[in-house]
Amino acid sequence: CGIVGYVGPRQSQGILLAGLSRLEYRGYDSAGIAVIDGGGSLGMRKRAGKLGILRDDLKTHPLADGTTGIGHTRWATHGGPTDTNAHPHLADDDRLAVIHNGIIENYADLKAELLAEGFTFQSETDTEVAAVLLGRAYRARGGDLVAAFRDVAARLEGAFTLLAMHRDQPGLVVGARRNSPLVIGLGEGENFLASDVAAFVEHTRDALAIGQDEIVAITPEGVEVTDFDGNPVEVERFEVTWDASA
Ligand code: GLU
Repeated sequence: CGIVGYVGPRQSQGILLAGLSRLEYRGYDSAGIAVIDGGGSLGMRKRAGKLGILRDDLKTHPLADGTTGIGHTRWATHGGPTDTNAHPHLADDDRLAVIHNGIIENYADLKAELLAEGFTFQSETDTEVAAVLLGRAYRARGGDLVAAFRDVAARLEGAFTLLAMHRDQPGLVVGARRNSPLVIGLGEGENFLASDVAAFVEHTRDALAIGQDEIVAITPEGVEVTDFDGNPVEVERFEVTWDASA
């Protein structure tokens, strides 16, 4: 339901949680974050219920912080609102973290294909199918996350905003969208991805709109946007003008 991603010099957990709370007005039943820490390992925490439950959990059982992170609030469509079904979902032996808004219509066929190949699943979500597919594609593409996104986007039907990051590539968050919104927030030495500008407007008002069927890669230094075939595309730059304190 709500999506936020961050790359830059700052510790990301507080930025992700604040961004998610800006998206709370949309409604949700679970929340979670994943962070790549300074040592290059990937930490993840997710809980059914309000954002406060996730915050309390992180206070009592802190997660190592890091400067690359993704956060999600979920509105369950496939699988009940449980801790396990909350996002992020992990793949590639817990090295890849994925969040998703929308519905993957052909998830049952894709899941059957992956089960037949021996892949296993923790959750009942359509999202985890995309995560496992992405993990498989990441391996097949020799660790190229953008190329993996191209392969996976071509196989998904329905509506998705997908964000992913891999432990072996700190400083990189990749996203894709079809029939579901995604915007970039441009900062100074840091960049944001979100389903709604509300998630990053307290940090920057300089934004890029991602078009239909596009893939975006953000690093602290820049952003790259391509179509699902890998061709660079023009993106519309705009300034967020509404009052963020409202
Ligand atoms: N279909 C996904 C799920 O049920 C994502 C729902 C959402 O957009 O929050 O987990």
